[in-house]
Amino acid sequence: MRALYIGRFQPYHLGHHAVIKEMASEADEVIICIGSAQRSHELENPFTAGERYLMISKSLRDDGVFNFYIVPILDVNWNAVWVSHVESLIPPVDVVYTNNPLIERLFKERDYKVRAPLLFNRKEYSGSEIRRRMLNNESWKDLVPKAVAEVIKEIEGMKRMKDLGRNDTE
Ligand code: ATP
Ligand code: MG
Repeated sequence: MRALYIGRFQPYHLGHHAVIKEMASEADEVIICIGSAQRSHELENPFTAGERYLMISKSLRDDGVFNFYIVPILDVNWNAVWVSHVESLIPPVDVVYTNNPLIERLFKERDYKVRAPLLFNRKEYSGSEIRRRMLNNESWKDLVPKAVAEVIKEIEGMKRMKDLGRNDTE
């Protein structure tokens, strides 16, 4: 059985990590799509697809999970063809895991089995909350796997976030 999980992972956090580890223990293989792959260097999307790829793969390998494939997916800005677009880039899958209502609808309309994973500590394990904390110098490292904090350090991600938060009028 092959299972699909889709996210933007800006950044990859412990909520995503808990869901994917559970999927990996149930499915033979987990396909992880990095959505909006072309976006980076924006406050809402600070990290590149390659950086997100590193965050996910290192975190899973650190925890002994190896039965996953990561596929970056560019936006097509065309919801009606989006599932076909994803299908053209991934191995065939039997089930899709998502809590996103639009993704659920689009895959259900194409007759996919869709399951909603449990949400883990959604108030704090949230990309938006982690980006907010990074910008405001609040603690965020306890909300991501250790490997994610290491990748963000390696790429000087905090400096990037701060620069993205500046403007040229001051
Ligand atoms: P953002 O705030 O930037 O939208 P996010 O935390 O929602 O970030 P996404 O990459 O948008 O993360 O989400 C990918 C998938 O992960 C979605 O299906 C989302 O519902 C799910 N998800 C997000 N947070 C959690 C969590 N704490 N526990 C379980 N699943 C989560
Ligand atoms: Mg989200």
